[in-house]
Amino acid sequence: DVFYRELPKVELHAHLNGSVSVTTIEKLISRKPHLNIEHGMTAIGKGQRRTLDECSQVFKVIHQLVDTEEDILMVATDVIREFAADGVKYLELRSTPREEKGTGLTKKSYVETVIKAIKQCKSEGLDIDVRFLVAIDRRNGPEVAMETVKLAEEFMLSSDGLVLGLDLSGDPMVGHGKDLLPALQRAKNCGLKLSLHLSEVPSQLEESDLLLNLRPDRIGHGTFLHPEVGGSQGLVDKVVTNNIPLELCLTSNVKGQTVPCYAKHHFKYWYQMGHPCVICTDDKGVFSTDLSQEYQLAASTFGLSREDLWKLSEQAIDCIFAPDTVKQHLKQKWVAIKPQVF
Ligand code: 5GP
Repeated sequence: DVFYRELPKVELHAHLNGSVSVTTIEKLISRKPHLNIEHGMTAIGKGQRRTLDECSQVFKVIHQLVDTEEDILMVATDVIREFAADGVKYLELRSTPREEKGTGLTKKSYVETVIKAIKQCKSEGLDIDVRFLVAIDRRNGPEVAMETVKLAEEFMLSSDGLVLGLDLSGDPMVGHGKDLLPALQRAKNCGLKLSLHLSEVPSQLEESDLLLNLRPDRIGHGTFLHPEVGGSQGLVDKVVTNNIPLELCLTSNVKGQTVPCYAKHHFKYWYQMGHPCVICTDDKGVFSTDLSQEYQLAASTFGLSREDLWKLSEQAIDCIFAPDTVKQHLKQKWVAIKPQVF
């Protein structure tokens, strides 16, 4: 439906290497035929589901395909162009800086290359404002987390506002959030915005409580925060009192099997409460989706009108990490576009 593509949108939860499209994967495979990778191994199609663990395997395969500066530049420019073509006007991409001894890729050159891609897309005149969040992969432990924060700090100061914050992601079953608190606290103190994956799996009440005490600026997923699914009213109260927006990814959670079906997605709980919810893709390549499709799914599952969807996309502007001037600019853009969409 053309309405969903024309609806101007904000994407706030997109992992770079999870967002790689089939077309880009094909280009990567042809660059590295010796790896014997097929795309069945990099994407989860319609109707298919995988456990979170199996999803991690998918990322391993993609990481093998994306291991040079050249690859990252291509992947990032392709992903940005695809989001722009889908009607996304503001995008916060996140990615875990990786070092690859074999190709000379360093964590620093990784981030520099993503920034280069953002600048390149800007110079092409694409109608999309792109920012970057440096990701901490929790599997790598507290020391790497601290290094990552320092790297993000450097880039926050030198990237003309392109690097805005930090993401905490990676396998939620590995490690404990409490070990990462010093790194996250430092990030917060130096002015990096925080988006934390939280309660993505059940029984993490203690960890979620500790992480919420940091007052993150946004929450990724938050699937098991509310009491109906084993969370607690105390956790919900902390989220509500501090007005922390949730980044919600319908297809990702259903295909990743943390939510039993679309109708039972926690979007319903938070949206009905009037809490700020931002619809996002998570990994549009891996989960074979795009942001238009996610809005359409929310509409068909929860009976949202076009006016509701408009409000949802417009309110997402308040949840971005870029400064108020950027928010004002986007709001004007929404006003200008509205008559063309309705
Ligand atoms: P990258 O950081 O390499 O650009 O994107 C892939 C990485 O994002 C994965 O290795 C993983 O650390 C993180 N990621 C992607 N999707 C998810 C998700 O649904 N949950 C969590 N916890 N991490 C994810």
